[in-house]
Amino acid sequence: MRSQENSGTLLEMPVGKPLSSLSNEELRQVHARASQRHQSYVKAGRRLDMTRGKPSAEQLALSQPMLALPGENDWRSEDGLDCRNYGGPLTGLAEARRLLAPLAQVAPDQVLVGGNASLAVMHDCLAFALLHGVPGGDAPWSRQEDVAFLCPSPGYDRHFGLCEGLGVRMIPVALTGQGPDMDQVERLVASDPAIKGMWCVPKYSNPTGETYSAETVERLAAMPTAAADFRLFWDNAYGVHDLTETSAALPSILERAAAHGRADRPFVFASTSKMTFAGAGLALFAGSAVNLRWLTLCLARRTIGPDKLNQLRHVRWLRDFDGLLALMARHRQLLAPKFALVREILARDLDGLGIATWTDPKGGYFISLDVMDGCAQRTVAIAAEAGLTLVPAGQTFPYGQDPNDRNIRLAPSFPGLEDLRVITECVANSTILAATDALLRQRGL
Ligand code: PMP
Repeated sequence: MRSQENSGTLLEMPVGKPLSSLSNEELRQVHARASQRHQSYVKAGRRLDMTRGKPSAEQLALSQPMLALPGENDWRSEDGLDCRNYGGPLTGLAEARRLLAPLAQVAPDQVLVGGNASLAVMHDCLAFALLHGVPGGDAPWSRQEDVAFLCPSPGYDRHFGLCEGLGVRMIPVALTGQGPDMDQVERLVASDPAIKGMWCVPKYSNPTGETYSAETVERLAAMPTAAADFRLFWDNAYGVHDLTETSAALPSILERAAAHGRADRPFVFASTSKMTFAGAGLALFAGSAVNLRWLTLCLARRTIGPDKLNQLRHVRWLRDFDGLLALMARHRQLLAPKFALVREILARDLDGLGIATWTDPKGGYFISLDVMDGCAQRTVAIAAEAGLTLVPAGQTFPYGQDPNDRNIRLAPSFPGLEDLRVITECVANSTILAATDALLRQRGL
């Protein structure tokens, strides 16, 4: 599916200098070429999709042998539990807790291995906090007229959807490349008791790819909060999803919070969704003994127990944390070339034009593209006309509102390399078309 219509790239254009510095005539030329290319996409009538960061079929195939596990004659846990039946601790099988504890950077006895989706565990924690309150608080959160969460933005749209769905007010907080703007965070949490929590994707953040610095983690662990029952919702979804051979360093939030006498502050989440099978993996919660007891008590009313056979299947397949890291290295081999291709095309088509910047993530699932202010929605709409579905602009912000209308989340994992080439060329062309539209309008042309 090589894109013939773009094989000339944009080199014929007067590029290499900012579009804003072009003469009216040059700008019109760039606009005309981008329009022409856009029309060729429209005519080609393709349907391409880059909305969600899903693993590709090749990635899923890496864990294909897991479908035959644990096998017809293998259903007992190491404690002798019959995994086919009800029973056993709500915290999950001991061997599954041991397997996944390193993801939470904590000892296995601080870990609960639950169902298939960490998002569901996050939902439960927030819903239980609203309904029952959390340790250290004196009432259910919902008794308070106003409950708010800090939302580093751009961030994960489903975190924001959870808050919106459960009536939690969202306060956007800026990201710095080293995590959230901690001056802003400290000021807000110290003064406002309505702020009960904060979303954090501390490693290879969705979508910016940044990893929180040691200083950021330290300040989050130590900061005084007006709400005594404040919680960090620490979603370490991409803790082992490296795109290079070096894994970014992230201090253990549970350890750091405990060191500051705030052991109950973090609720840690992770899952194997992007390791084994998305939607059929294992989710993890980790926290202080107090938090673990709280969640277990809440969960006891909700479920008789997790899917122990899936836990056994994962233990048999991954064996131990080294086995899990070896699998992640195979994912990297599939993912890294896709990220490299997207970056190569963006650089080729957009570098120097002064209308876009994009991230160079060392892990995770996304490249975050910032187009010219006020142009993200238009860029996504132009791509849609060309047959490419992107995540709606704004969705990476609370309430779907990007104050600058500039952020677009690119998700290179799912498409094959040839589709990815077409998709990225189309993104670049849509970016240019939206920007030249805006610049021509600004000049009254
Ligand atoms: N957290 C983040 C930051 C994500 O990007 C995603 C999507 N993969 C999830 C959680 C969802 O994870 P799960 O499948 O475990 O619900």
